Amino acid sequence: MDFAFDSVTEDLRQRLLLFMDECVYPAEHAFEEQAATSGWGAPPLIDDLKDEARQRGLWNLFLPGDHGAGLTNLQYAPLAEIMGRSPHLAPVATNCAAPDTGNMEVLAMFGNDWQRKEWLRPLLDGEIRSAFAMTEPDVASSDATNIATSITRDGNEYVINGRKWFISGAMNPACKIFIVMGKTDPEAPTHRQQSMVLVPRDTPGMEIKRGMHVFGYSDADHGGHAEIVFTDVRVPVDHLIGEEGGGFAIAQARLGPGRIHHCMRLIGMAERAVELMCRRTLSRTAFGKTIAQQGVVQDWIAESRIRIEQLRLLVLKTAWLMDTVGNQGAHTEIQAIKISTPIAVEWILDKAIQAHGAGGVSQDFPLAGLWAGARSLRLADGPDEVHKRSLAYRELKKYM
Ligand SMILES: Cc1cc2nc3c(=O)[nH]c(=O)nc-3n(C[C@H](O)[C@H](O)[C@H](O)COP(=O)(O)OP(=O)(O)OC[C@H]3O[C@@H](n4cnc5c(N)ncnc54)[C@H](O)[C@@H]3O)c2cc1C
Repeated sequence: MDFAFDSVTEDLRQRLLLFMDECVYPAEHAFEEQAATSGWGAPPLIDDLKDEARQRGLWNLFLPGDHGAGLTNLQYAPLAEIMGRSPHLAPVATNCAAPDTGNMEVLAMFGNDWQRKEWLRPLLDGEIRSAFAMTEPDVASSDATNIATSITRDGNEYVINGRKWFISGAMNPACKIFIVMGKTDPEAPTHRQQSMVLVPRDTPGMEIKRGMHVFGYSDADHGGHAEIVFTDVRVPVDHLIGEEGGGFAIAQARLGPGRIHHCMRLIGMAERAVELMCRRTLSRTAFGKTIAQQGVVQDWIAESRIRIEQLRLLVLKTAWLMDTVGNQGAHTEIQAIKISTPIAVEWILDKAIQAHGAGGVSQDFPLAGLWAGARSLRLADGPDEVHKRSLAYRELKKYM
């Protein structure tokens, strides 16, 4: 077993690390200042970072195959980790930010030629953003078969009616296309009732009501998390992705790579937290010694390092499995990392916050925002309990 990165990955790692040092970290302060006044969407300096990343060949690294950089999951994973150290800047600067990544994967895998030209091309070029609209306030959406939005065929059009919420990125004016999941046939077998359609922004009948807060954060720089009402929204039938009844399967296919990306970025956040925890506790003295010299703080630091190393190994193994046996074959591991990573990183961030005292919960350090992000990922892309249920079922099935 070889734990070294291959030469392609190592070259990209070095270039990405340099980009982070030269361009991303130095821009963080100005980003916060611009974000405070620039409303919904990425602050202006992001455009400069995108130009720079693209020139450096750090673009669409997430996407395997001909449409993207062509990396494997195992090659991309350590790069996503580095991006996660500055999660509001680096992923978007390199065109590797959710939810666009998952949406681009859907269009690359299931879109027809027209849909790819119209929507995938500008997404790959970073000219537009996109959103994925599945969750609904009125039904328990962790069970995607509950999704109640109706998508009804009427001649050459589909008519959409329903209400969605927590639709990330939707408030961003640059978000030009929405992938909407709903039911085309409520009478079909449970997992064949759903379909996905492309809905361009500003289609009549589509009303963006408000941005939902996440622990008080609006996430405005990412276009927030919107509540959207669809009332008799009409799109031509060629806006259907794949086939009628294929929506559930597309949703499943979309989530595999997305989960590993989230987990790698979370590990990057945890690395940042440990670095901040070490620097801060070495620099402050209480009761006659540095805070770093307190045994309890050393315990947090040691535990954090151990947990990060464990998570990284599991995530890399999962990436390797996805590359070698496919997403289905890596099902148990994908669920295992989706369960274990956010909760462990939440713990590490909590300790880093504690080690910072009041500063830790303030706007002067990124820790509070990172904690909110990690905590939210115990819900987004499926709550812990739902993944555990399915993982346990697979385990039990071996003995049934
Ligand atoms: C920051 C953020 C961003 C998001 N972005 C998007 C987005 O862009 N697009 C989108 O469509 N959605 C998005 N979501 C929504 C997210 O995917 C859903 O919140 C999630 O799928 C859970 O659905 P729900 O909120 O309806 O919870 P429910 O289905 O109502 O579940 C509530 C709770 O019930 C418990 N539960 C459910 N089932 C079981 C079970 N089988 N066993 C034990 N306990 C169970 C769990 O604790 C769960 O958290 C986002 C959410 C957040 C927080």
